[in-house]
Amino acid sequence: MPTPWSDEELKASVEAYVEMLDKQRRGERVIKARYYRTLEKRFGRAAKAFEYRAQNISHVYALQGRTWIAGLKPAGNVGVNIVARLEALIAEVEGHQPSASATFATEVNEQRGLYRDNASTSPTGRLVPDKKAVNTTVYEREPAVVAWVLTKADGVCECCDSPAPFTREDGSLFLEVHHLKRLADGGPDIVENAIALCPNCHRELHAGVGKHELAARLIDKIERLDAY
Ligand SMILES: [Zn+2]
Ligand SMILES: [Zn+2]
Repeated sequence: MPTPWSDEELKASVEAYVEMLDKQRRGERVIKARYYRTLEKRFGRAAKAFEYRAQNISHVYALQGRTWIAGLKPAGNVGVNIVARLEALIAEVEGHQPSASATFATEVNEQRGLYRDNASTSPTGRLVPDKKAVNTTVYEREPAVVAWVLTKADGVCECCDSPAPFTREDGSLFLEVHHLKRLADGGPDIVENAIALCPNCHRELHAGVGKHELAARLIDKIERLDAY
């Protein structure tokens, strides 16, 4: 039986991950093996295990629709218990309010596994769902940036070049403005980092397999865009 991971070990793993991700964002060289070796010395667990844990952390970032560390491919074979602990620790270490989006997605996936075998009994659900107040950090966005990017796109998705999928009630064409480097990841709110997208391309850039490669292709394709 492998030893279960203590809170201390998981927290140290998340701290190392967040530090590596920060370095990657700043364009600094990240020597990942050094982090795993330090953790191995501290906790007496193999460096390889910490590397694998880091891939689980990428998995949580991926479920949240965020950018993960290059070279640490998301590894999703972790249960809801570990995902919930990692998600809470990421919020704590990054200093923002916890979200439970990765935990919820994991619960949905686990339940899907159950329904795959037997979907004849549907869930009762809740007639009156519980509610809770949450505190979130939002980034103030510049309306002028959104306005300029939408005007420039003129109703055509800058990713797939398809026309906006529908017209809003006010008559405007529906496209969404996305920041290639998220504001939450330290990206600037400027037109060189913003792109007008149809909802499909937008979700794909947050959640699609190969989303980092797709973002890189867009930076090549659209002259206005810069890598940040
Ligand atoms: Zn599109
Ligand atoms: Zn977006």
